[in-house]
Amino acid sequence: KTPNNIDSNIRLRRELITLKELIGGGQFGNVYKAIYHDVEKDERIAVAVKVCKTDAEPADTQLILQESSLMRNFRHSHIIQLIGVCVDHPMWLVLELAPHGELREYLQQEKDWLPLRTLTLFCSQICDSLVYLHSTRFVHRDIAARNVLVCSPQCVKLADFGLSRALDYDAVYTASRGKLPIKWLAPESVNYRQFSMASDVWMFGVCMWEIYSLGVKPWAGVTNSDVIMHIEQGSRPPCPEKCPSALYNFIRSKMWAIEPHKRPTVDQIYAGPFRK
Ligand code: ADP
Repeated sequence: KTPNNIDSNIRLRRELITLKELIGGGQFGNVYKAIYHDVEKDERIAVAVKVCKTDAEPADTQLILQESSLMRNFRHSHIIQLIGVCVDHPMWLVLELAPHGELREYLQQEKDWLPLRTLTLFCSQICDSLVYLHSTRFVHRDIAARNVLVCSPQCVKLADFGLSRALDYDAVYTASRGKLPIKWLAPESVNYRQFSMASDVWMFGVCMWEIYSLGVKPWAGVTNSDVIMHIEQGSRPPCPEKCPSALYNFIRSKMWAIEPHKRPTVDQIYAGPFRK
């Protein structure tokens, strides 16, 4: 059955897309490099196509559609652009291609030469995308280096809107289902499943920590169930070797404040530590 609640202007004709090599695998299916023939402009452009698993649950299909109609609303130089969707089975999501792939892998591969200013540039670009998202009252809810893609050596983009949600009047969204990325989450997200712009700030702090750690995951060797105990006892991931200590202190004391209202907004972060 074809979902009919999708904006007709994001539908793409499948025959305009030629799949090429496999570039990744995700929760909902494989991702391929592909060529999209833009008939209006008569251009052929390289894109990424997420091919949704054929055995996907109807609920998952719904989530993917939700993700795609959300992404369609965003237009920002540091957010992966949704180009369109082929809705008939198997559903394809056609996305702007990030030729250099996942940020974590990129950091690990290039770690011997990447200068500090590039790490700071990447962090400020992600921050810029969050300023934009939060200005439209969107909470991403899954900010982590694994959801950042590299478009060029000087440009990263935020991807994966699978978990993001529009905020309701309470400005806090309570998640009711699904697996949560515990080691990235703010304490109120772990304890009460509350997500807000302030919990995005906590996660962005963890993502910055991963970037300055050159692709290391936080809390290595600690079990998910122990992380919240460490946090509540005042423990935080240690200062990465590459991270300037003033910036680390800012992340630790402000962005990782237990109380959400004590954390800075993304606008304050963008205007502050990156400009020094
Ligand atoms: P899921 O959300 O279903 O887990 P992802 O969106 O994380 O799937 O995609 C899986 C992998 O495919 C990513 O880790 C990345 O390597 C690759 N990928 C996804 N989107 C793109 C893109 N736009 N450009 C390049 N590679 C991509």
